[in-house]
Amino acid sequence: MAFVLITGGAGFIGYHLQQQLQSKYLVNAIDLINEPTPAIKLRKSKLKHVVHADINSDFLNTLEGTPEVIIHLAAETGIAGSLTHPQKYFDTNVAGTFNVLEQCRKAGIKYLIYASSSSVYAPNQLIMQEDSNTINQLSYYGTTKKMDEVMIENYCKQFGITAIGLRFFTVYGSYTRPDMAAYKFMEAISKGKPIVLYNNGNVYRDFTHVSDVVNSIELLLEKIQQEPEGSHKVFNIGYGTPISVNEYATCIAKHLSKPLFTQFFPLPANELPATHSNTELLERYINYKPKCDINEGIFEMTNWYKTNNYE
Ligand code: NAD
Repeated sequence: MAFVLITGGAGFIGYHLQQQLQSKYLVNAIDLINEPTPAIKLRKSKLKHVVHADINSDFLNTLEGTPEVIIHLAAETGIAGSLTHPQKYFDTNVAGTFNVLEQCRKAGIKYLIYASSSSVYAPNQLIMQEDSNTINQLSYYGTTKKMDEVMIENYCKQFGITAIGLRFFTVYGSYTRPDMAAYKFMEAISKGKPIVLYNNGNVYRDFTHVSDVVNSIELLLEKIQQEPEGSHKVFNIGYGTPISVNEYATCIAKHLSKPLFTQFFPLPANELPATHSNTELLERYINYKPKCDINEGIFEMTNWYKTNNYE
């Protein structure tokens, strides 16, 4: 049974990934859970095999044995914070990822799967495919993710690490992060408060359910071990059919059986007006196309919210 280490394993996607992989792999995770954020508190009672460790440390020393594969999800997440606290994003996303690479190089870990983001894409592209323009990003968060891709490309070529990067498109589902629109919308709608919509709700996102993300990663975990040394591939992980944030909020309200009240604000300058994932490359590589439609996905998420008495 291969030993897989997830960084950021107490996070939203990391939590689901652990659940998905633990029957097939020996899964350990590291996370900064010594100062639990509200998001981590939400998942804490269900966490297994998570060690308190910083990606900016010699974190491999905290484990028993050396993992064969690292799935690197730990990050400073969210677009907004990267405008107000860019240093934190540099320290975690750039310096932290550099340290993950160094740990791989020093310990001879061959395989790395890592989280990038749709935020690496330059604005004003109707559809985003892996070779679309990623020269400039609207947010510094997006730039840190692009810097990761560039650093990792070099480490693959220079040191023979084999890597797969994943450009996630707005992931939602149970145990979502409290700073994401999904959670904020559920909180406000269930309390009868207005939600904030940008640009009159005419912002489009390729909402992707977390089950499609972890199904894809599970398949990629098998594939990466067949890749030649030093190869580096990058894939979009997106549903492939964007909807407006207005429709998204309306669907959440419908599943919570509550009315929707809205307030409108201009779109922040560092937010993309639209994201749309071309999913063909992923589909050809793992023979899997994200399949959870928005109704089914929001049902799963709102059901979790309701049954955990967050409303
Ligand atoms: P999350 O914030 O829930 O998870 C990230 C985890 O990393 C957190 O538990 C946090 O405690 C941990 N972490 C932060 N700094 C750390 C450090 N120095 N050492 C160890 N752990 C640390 O985020 P998520 O939504 O699960 O996202 C996972 C990854 O996917 C991130 O890299 C994120 O940038 C990327 N991503 C997510 C989305 C999305 O829609 N959720 C979209 C695009 C990209």
